[in-house]
Amino acid sequence: MRTPIIAGNWKMHNNIEESLKLVRAIKSYDLAKNVEKVVCVPFTDLKSVKEEIKGTDIKLGAQNMHFEESGAYTGEISASMLKEIGVDYVIIGHSERREYFNETDETVNKKIKTAIKHNIKPILCVGETLEQREANEQKKIVKTQIEGALKDIETRDIEEIVVAYEPIWAIGTGKTASSIDAEDMIKFIRETINSLYGSLSQKVRIQYGGSVKPSNIVELMEKEEIDGALVGGASLKAEDFVKLVNF
Ligand code: 13P
Repeated sequence: MRTPIIAGNWKMHNNIEESLKLVRAIKSYDLAKNVEKVVCVPFTDLKSVKEEIKGTDIKLGAQNMHFEESGAYTGEISASMLKEIGVDYVIIGHSERREYFNETDETVNKKIKTAIKHNIKPILCVGETLEQREANEQKKIVKTQIEGALKDIETRDIEEIVVAYEPIWAIGTGKTASSIDAEDMIKFIRETINSLYGSLSQKVRIQYGGSVKPSNIVELMEKEEIDGALVGGASLKAEDFVKLVNF
């Protein structure tokens, strides 16, 4: 049995005060115990949010990191810096980073290796554009992204990775992939991992992301292959995020 994982990706929202307000509101609710909950917050909020979630079972995530250990990389943040604060998860290869910050399967692969080395669990994002889906290339694209991201990742580490399937056309658009399409792709991702790592693929958690909200979470989570959600917009409202966690 894979433990469901609901992660909020706050993106570039919330200063420290707003973050604390949101996380205080989230923890004031009764949250499902059998669901892993993660808040992926801006770098500048990590430390404050970490303090605020102490004593709860809410996990802390970052939204990016550099693959090098340290050095002359102005503006970058290393895995050990995140680990020092107590970060549990890091989103790697989000489509916004691939699109606006030139992330490639190669840099994604390097980041995953560095995160694992520092005991930070990567949430690896993959997904196709609308154009690619219309050309029926979505599986080819996602397969390339998965194989590239997992290149030379050791078998013993594969379970540490969470994959998030986020079709780009469904992000922030209000358009969710149908639960059938989402499950179909997630099943395909598991088969791709199976071809690399065999039955360990059954242990890898694969989330869906893209306009997940309280009104569609149940239908998505009913699908056997879908192990959770990576949530943008709806994770910024405590009440909505809690509804997703308590699906
Ligand atoms: P939305 O839930 O706002 O569509 O964002 C999805 C996403 O990009 C999460 O990483």
